[in-house]
Amino acid sequence: MRRVRIIAILGCAAFLFLMARLASLQLFGSARLQAEAALRDSDVRMLPALRCAIKTSAGEILAEDRHVIDLVITAGALYPDRAACILLADQIDRARRRAEVLGEPLHEPLPGGMDAQALLDRWARSAGRECVRLAADLTAAQAERLRPHALALVPPGAKKSAVLLRLGKPLPGLPVPRELWFDITALGMTLGAEPLWSDLLRAITGSVARLRGGAHFLAELEETLGGRPDGAAFPAIDYEGRRACTVVKEAEIVPPILSEDEGRRLLRHTDLRRRYFRGVQLRAKEEGGLFTLRRTYGVVFTRERRDVCGRLQALAGREGFGSAALSAEFRRNAQEIIARMDAMPRRADAFFRRKFEEKRPVRSPDIAWELAEVWRARYLEHALFTREQLLIADLGAYGDDGVRLLELLPAGVPIAVRSRYVRRYPQGESVGSLVGLARPWELAVDADSPEALAAFQDEVREHRDFLKELRAGPDVAARFSERRRGAPPLRTPGDAVGIQGIERDLDARLRGLAGLQLAAPGERIHIPPLAGNDAELVIDLGFTRAMYGVLEDAARGMPSGYACRSGIAIVMDLENGDLLCLASYPSFDPDRYLSRDPRYLDRLAARAKDAPLWNHCFFPVIPGSVFKLVVAGAFLEEGGSPGTAVYCKGRDHPDYHCPNHGLPDGDAAWNLHEAIKRSCNHYFVDLGTRRLGRDKLVGWMGRFGFNGAPAWLPPELRRSGAPDYAAELRDLRYYMCYGSGEIRVLPLVMLRFVAAIARGGSAPRPRLRADAPVVHDTLPLRPASCEVLRKAMRAVVAEYPGTAHKPECGLFPAFNAAVKTGTAELDPRLGTNNAWIVGFAPHRAPRYAFVVCLEHVARGGHGGETAGPVAAAALKYLDRANPALGLRAAGTQ
Ligand SMILES: [Zn+2]
Repeated sequence: MRRVRIIAILGCAAFLFLMARLASLQLFGSARLQAEAALRDSDVRMLPALRCAIKTSAGEILAEDRHVIDLVITAGALYPDRAACILLADQIDRARRRAEVLGEPLHEPLPGGMDAQALLDRWARSAGRECVRLAADLTAAQAERLRPHALALVPPGAKKSAVLLRLGKPLPGLPVPRELWFDITALGMTLGAEPLWSDLLRAITGSVARLRGGAHFLAELEETLGGRPDGAAFPAIDYEGRRACTVVKEAEIVPPILSEDEGRRLLRHTDLRRRYFRGVQLRAKEEGGLFTLRRTYGVVFTRERRDVCGRLQALAGREGFGSAALSAEFRRNAQEIIARMDAMPRRADAFFRRKFEEKRPVRSPDIAWELAEVWRARYLEHALFTREQLLIADLGAYGDDGVRLLELLPAGVPIAVRSRYVRRYPQGESVGSLVGLARPWELAVDADSPEALAAFQDEVREHRDFLKELRAGPDVAARFSERRRGAPPLRTPGDAVGIQGIERDLDARLRGLAGLQLAAPGERIHIPPLAGNDAELVIDLGFTRAMYGVLEDAARGMPSGYACRSGIAIVMDLENGDLLCLASYPSFDPDRYLSRDPRYLDRLAARAKDAPLWNHCFFPVIPGSVFKLVVAGAFLEEGGSPGTAVYCKGRDHPDYHCPNHGLPDGDAAWNLHEAIKRSCNHYFVDLGTRRLGRDKLVGWMGRFGFNGAPAWLPPELRRSGAPDYAAELRDLRYYMCYGSGEIRVLPLVMLRFVAAIARGGSAPRPRLRADAPVVHDTLPLRPASCEVLRKAMRAVVAEYPGTAHKPECGLFPAFNAAVKTGTAELDPRLGTNNAWIVGFAPHRAPRYAFVVCLEHVARGGHGGETAGPVAAAALKYLDRANPALGLRAAGTQ
């Protein structure tokens, strides 16, 4: 209900705002300005699209967009006087700097120059004056007659000088126009005193009607006020709505001590800024009485009389309006906008200098200067007048107060309501690195980063050019609709862009298409944004979360006593290839990351070497002894016999030894089964280097999928490749045969290989998206070879002295699993290892395949005793979910 209300008000407020804005432009501007206004000031905005959700097949939300409504304003609309002063002071400074740098003679546009602060001070002193024009184009005699009547209206105690007679801007060949003004500030009138104001006008109307020559004045009043000045029936005056024609606020922003020439020179500077300095004029001032002959010139800035900030502050702090938090946020944001605006010239300067230095080597200094000036001007213009600033972020968070504020916003207040979407990740860290994150497409204006600034400028220019071009031609809707489907994708500020994980891989699917809102005189186009499509993942969220906890424990050395730094656990359903678990530790919480909480970011930075933002399941790792399965597979497929005996020297080999199985008598001859069970290094060095050789082994690695990037994996699972061994591996060194040295494998490739062993050569292709097809690949592994390997892998668990047989490995006798362990030495001096365990279960009718790898295990922890318990935890979870599968051995608990 509340949402419906907000949206209805939203549309209405935007429309009123627009109409008021156009009306004021038409009344205020010249024909040229009007044309410019139609082109530039019509409200063209791209509307952000909803980015769709990432969820699990069970319907749990992993990432979704939340709709947020903000109250925004441009700084220039909020503080037009301040922005104008900043720009004007900037113009003056530029002229001076230009003269200095280029060694030109200095033409001071102003006596002594003037900086922004001085202009602001001057403005502050004079900005309180509010005048109402009573009559224009009077002859001197008419003005004289009118004046006493007007004076009679001045309340007792107010300054008599509140009635001003002014000379207008003289035009060649025409008499100088005279105007009669009321200075309502001097009269003690305030904005809020509306009844008094109406009374005053009514009184003026009545008394002026009696004047000879007053008809002109009445006609003008009638026209400007739009009502009938017939006394009693005078309409309530909505002077906020009519401010453009009735009430102006004037302030001198440059002292009235310029010669006419100086004044004109300054005016030329401001001319470029016509659309902001709409009321800037060179005005002759009268001094020392009504009609003096001495004439000086001041530049006068006439602004529309809308004290937006004051009004809103009053509104937000209003009695009974409720929320102190809302008022506080408003005030804080308003102050921040002021601070940003004040800092703007300094930032623009830094930007200018950089641009100038960039261009100087390739251009002549004056051209470089000019170019830099253009960049600088655009920067300031954009920052001060175009860029939307947040007044209230997420209005919905204020509940009813937010809705009430919207209802109370008067039309004509140049504040707009903007929709945006905020990405949220409710599942936190356990799936953070898998889901990844999408970040709003917005480049901050940061003067300290040249790249960010350049990108910001490009963004602004591209956006503006596109919209400008769009407005210039016919068939806006059709052209926009076509362009938004194009490549590169049309972004709107605030669009989320996937930069990591699934968010990045499925960006094109999740992302919607921007909409367009265009309102120009006589034209109103609204093309709604189009949402993207949800993405559904097959992962078991509860399982992945549980396994993340197990990996977290493993990092603390629980339960093995050997702490690791990072680790992964992947489990695949062999029926369809569904990746039920893709846990990777450490990970990160995308919500907290996007909140930019500095303490959290520091914590992540401290763990940077363990890459918490990346899901390690997709990156190649040194495999250690699990690679022996690949060597064994190659050997069997080359026709090698499983009975092949190799004499192992135990610990006595000069380069390596077989620490896992050294016999009391030091040496023995093994067959393939025993060699896998005991993980005999010597056996596989013999197979690899003597019986297969480099070419054959690399050839089989390629056929099994271990060479390079796995093209058969879908893009969301293919973030990295293994080395291209066929191209890069010259010599097969002995240590490569037990998975050390240059050998790296992708965990998902190892998973598929293990799945193929489990299923007699046919393996399901790992699948993460629920809408991906179920594909079974046939690997070149004969059923007979698989049978040999399966039996050997079961022996690793079930027979003494299998490397995963010991009770501390957690697998035997509890689980009907078959595995191969691996321990890859990373740093022999420190004893850090990668500890692996890969396998499947139940071993007689395999349903699941798994890969566990703990990286940087300390103090020489081995695959079986460190990774084994992690695999056991996975089997325990799966057994609880599917007790009928027989994952657990009968009679065990
Ligand atoms: Zn051995």
